[in-house]
Amino acid sequence: MAGCARVPGGDDAYPGGLRNGLAFGQKTWYAVNFAHLLGEVQMPLYRKAGDTSAFPLESHMPEKIENSHLTEMTPLVSPRTVKAKLPLTEGAAGLVMQTRRAICDILHGRDRHRLLVVTGPCSIHDPQAAYEYAERLKPVIDETRDHLVVVMRTYFEKPRTTIGWKGLINDPHLDGSCDIPTGLERAREILLQINHTGVPCASEMLDPVTPQYVADLLSWAAIGARTTQSQTHREMASGLSMPVGFKNTTGGEVSGAINAMISAGHPHSFLGINADGMTSVIKTLGNPDRHIILRGGGGRPNYRQEDIAQVTEMVAKEGIARPIMVDCSHGNSNKDYTRQSAICRDVLRLRQEQEYDVMGILLESNLKPGNQSWKEGSHLEYGVSITDACIGWEESHDLLYEMAEVVQSNPCAVPA
Ligand code: PEP
Ligand code: MN
Repeated sequence: MAGCARVPGGDDAYPGGLRNGLAFGQKTWYAVNFAHLLGEVQMPLYRKAGDTSAFPLESHMPEKIENSHLTEMTPLVSPRTVKAKLPLTEGAAGLVMQTRRAICDILHGRDRHRLLVVTGPCSIHDPQAAYEYAERLKPVIDETRDHLVVVMRTYFEKPRTTIGWKGLINDPHLDGSCDIPTGLERAREILLQINHTGVPCASEMLDPVTPQYVADLLSWAAIGARTTQSQTHREMASGLSMPVGFKNTTGGEVSGAINAMISAGHPHSFLGINADGMTSVIKTLGNPDRHIILRGGGGRPNYRQEDIAQVTEMVAKEGIARPIMVDCSHGNSNKDYTRQSAICRDVLRLRQEQEYDVMGILLESNLKPGNQSWKEGSHLEYGVSITDACIGWEESHDLLYEMAEVVQSNPCAVPA
């Protein structure tokens, strides 16, 4: 348990999330032991997990000048070692390159017809369910490919408004042990297998160290609403090899995402790691393949005609032919998953009736609808999200074919 900071109480960004599960359900006392860091000073700090009366932590004068609030610093296996164990195959590389090119063609207006659709679970917690979703998605991808470019959400890192389960890379065993080395390998394993199924993958890039371990298997990436204003994430995006979408902020401001787009389009110098895991000065060229993802926020949606018209104008200077994608979940649906399909239909209708374009749609979709809370010792229902609520497979399947049909018979009103 020492590898993961455990803090009792707190809120969870996801209503159906893990508030009383994973990290917070322990009823044991535990010690924070600094001895292994310095070798001599031992400063135990006892707290009962789940006991909110222990908050705030009692202030004390640390006996060490630095690292006084750390419990562990463990060197991590290098990206090169993980990739040697789970190498990129020719087939996966081909799919990634081909999908990235297809998305870039949509973004830059060389393909004015097709829509990008990023669909899949809010987060992956069960590899078997992810494989089953990919297997079901594959024939849909093939049958709609003239009208849609479909990429599966394979999200392994979850940003939290306060605290909660931070995704499969951070805590792959879902028990608060935070076995990150296993998490990184497992994510890579899942991405390899899904790419081998013929299904391209999409993820949010949250920790700036992660891309070195998995980015070669990703065809599209998002920078989330909580990090779109972060310089670190803009710098990271400027060096990523795939197209990157920036979410508007959780408060609903789009200007933060547009500033992110501008920043990520420029060269940057910053600190990161190389393939051997060595801290390095990274210099980037800037990423030409950026766009905006409208996800709603601040208590209101932002996919309606006036929102898209306004954002189209705001983003015009960036020179991206088709710069806007709509997230049908999150702030746009007010996290009511049953609204996602209606939002998607609205966006497609507006696209064919109005003088603006939308390049893509994002859906939160899983084998089964809704979500569930994880509680220690409780049984998890197969194929149900443990973070944001998702639409189920049947609804997703029908919606994808409907989207393809609408795109085929009613092209966008914006002239090419
Ligand atoms: C998500 O895509 O699951 C997510 C956390 O999105 P956002 O950053 O828009 O909240
Ligand atoms: Mn989500």
